[in-house]
Amino acid sequence: MAARRLWSWRKAAELRVGARGLTGKHDYDLLVIGGGSGGLACSKEAAQYDKKVAVLDYVEPSPKGTRWGLGGTCVNVGCIPKKLMHHGALLGNAIKDAKNYGWDISLPVHHDWSVMANAIQDHVKSLNWGHFVQLQDKKVKYLNFKGVFVDQHTIQGESRKGEKTRLTAENIVLAAGGRPRYPVDIPGAELGISSDDLFWLQESPGKTLVIGASYVALECAGFLTGIGLDTSLMVRSIPLRGFDQQMAHLVTDYMMSYGTRIFWKCTPVKIEKLNSGKLQVVWKNLESNVEERESFDTVMWAIGRTPVTQDLCLDKAGVQINPETRKVIVGANEETSVSHIYAIGDIAEGRPELTPPAIKAGKMLAHRLYGKSAQLMDYDNVATTVFTPLEYGCVGLSEEEAVRRHGEDSVEIYHAYYKPLELTVAQRDVTQCYVKMICLHEDDQRILGLHFIGPNAGEVIQGFALGIKCNATYSQLVSTVGIHPTCAEEVNKLNITKRSGLDATVTSC
Ligand code: FAD
Ligand code: NDP
Repeated sequence: MAARRLWSWRKAAELRVGARGLTGKHDYDLLVIGGGSGGLACSKEAAQYDKKVAVLDYVEPSPKGTRWGLGGTCVNVGCIPKKLMHHGALLGNAIKDAKNYGWDISLPVHHDWSVMANAIQDHVKSLNWGHFVQLQDKKVKYLNFKGVFVDQHTIQGESRKGEKTRLTAENIVLAAGGRPRYPVDIPGAELGISSDDLFWLQESPGKTLVIGASYVALECAGFLTGIGLDTSLMVRSIPLRGFDQQMAHLVTDYMMSYGTRIFWKCTPVKIEKLNSGKLQVVWKNLESNVEERESFDTVMWAIGRTPVTQDLCLDKAGVQINPETRKVIVGANEETSVSHIYAIGDIAEGRPELTPPAIKAGKMLAHRLYGKSAQLMDYDNVATTVFTPLEYGCVGLSEEEAVRRHGEDSVEIYHAYYKPLELTVAQRDVTQCYVKMICLHEDDQRILGLHFIGPNAGEVIQGFALGIKCNATYSQLVSTVGIHPTCAEEVNKLNITKRSGLDATVTSC
């Protein structure tokens, strides 16, 4: 509420001093730094209002020298290549399942990394081109320059060849995202790659150790295992911090049964390159304090991402960052400490590091700046999916968070272990296919969170997210009729509470 008041007060003040009248003094009405999910969406939307808009996008090569084109993390080194490699891995399983459906396939089947990687890289390049064309169509000026602040309205852009240009703008949007973090205190850390490199490898990474335990680590370890590589995951504490931990452990249980080795409670000590070219990793087991070692073809760091605020010279403009996270501090209206500079997406403090919120925030910001909208982005109840071999989709609160906020007695949990029909004939282990709905215990049992592990979890959760946004209750949800036979209908059929202690295994079809 306070943020809304501040927003309208500032807008009114700007109009009084004729801030819009500044147009003409500057090269651009809006300059966006970063042509990724948030920046492209914001710039294209702003241009619809007949504003003069430019977007600067520049990819700093990874420490291993990997570089890519326009579109940001999601397109080039995130969601898109990741989901395609995940799909590639699932196809391998489908081939094995197919035998039970009568297909005559001689096993084992062989996977060729370079065929997959080339096909995916070609698709990504087509998306780079598509973004370029869209910017042209929408009359957004695209500049392949690295932008840094000179002052509050001036950005210096520098091309790869070192050409420099100065651009001024009335409004500036920071949408420069983040990059994978490397550890600073582990000898040999530079021998490892990051997800930025993995998707652009021409050759198979071979036997791989993935270090980390969140989205990137689990997803990458998952598809590497799925395509038949000897894959290990090193987890120093818990998997998927911030997620419902019962669900997170079901995800890792499935991964272990699927073939991923998991080194629990272990942390790397050093990496050395052996004469054979392999990488020897020494790590410490944090429980036993014992050091162990093993060699791998590839070590991949997936230990989080750092916002790219360091190189932007934000101090020249007076834009404040959180010194701990290094993210740009923003208000509910995406405004930074400087009233005409905004930040959206991964670079902004407290925002989910996901593509759809970055896109939506970018579009809504453009509507507030140049349309008549006063609507703020709602970051609550953003649905997400972890694309592990058995996918995990969720929206709303985890069980832990619901109990923390409302108390154990005020929370009712409905759950079910179910069997996806298509996996029964395939004789796959479905022990971890599970649905959990967290509701308030009182009255009509408003739904606080929904968690789903199983095939196509993202497709299942997306629709239910609408219900949760609309404050749906348990009784409303179970009053809708399921679609049979699907996995999603298991949500509509939930009737066993955790509190009852009854067996939650679904036995009928
Ligand atoms: P980005 O997309 O990172 O774009 C920022 C752009 O700015 C980049 O092109 C960068 O090179 C450029 N830039 C940086 N500094 C400058 C500068 N000084 N001048 C000019 N340009 C600059 N999200 C999902 O929703 N679903 C998923 O399945 C998913 N999978 C992911 C998988 C991986 C491996 C990773 C790493 C991320 C994944 N994400 C996923 C997260 C998603 O990719 C990000 O949240 C999203 O891309 C953030 O968008 P953004 O606009 O903030 O920044
Ligand atoms: P996160 O910040 O989510 O997690 C970092 C992980 O690395 C944690 O498991 C952390 O463990 C571990 N870690 C940190 N430092 C070390 C260390 N020194 N040694 C060992 N382990 C360490 O990072 P991600 O890179 O996985 O993801 C970044 C963001 O990208 C996510 O938050 C997500 O929003 C987005 N993303 C979304 C995807 C999707 O939508 N499907 C897919 C991939 C990414 P600990 O818990 O002990 O700190």
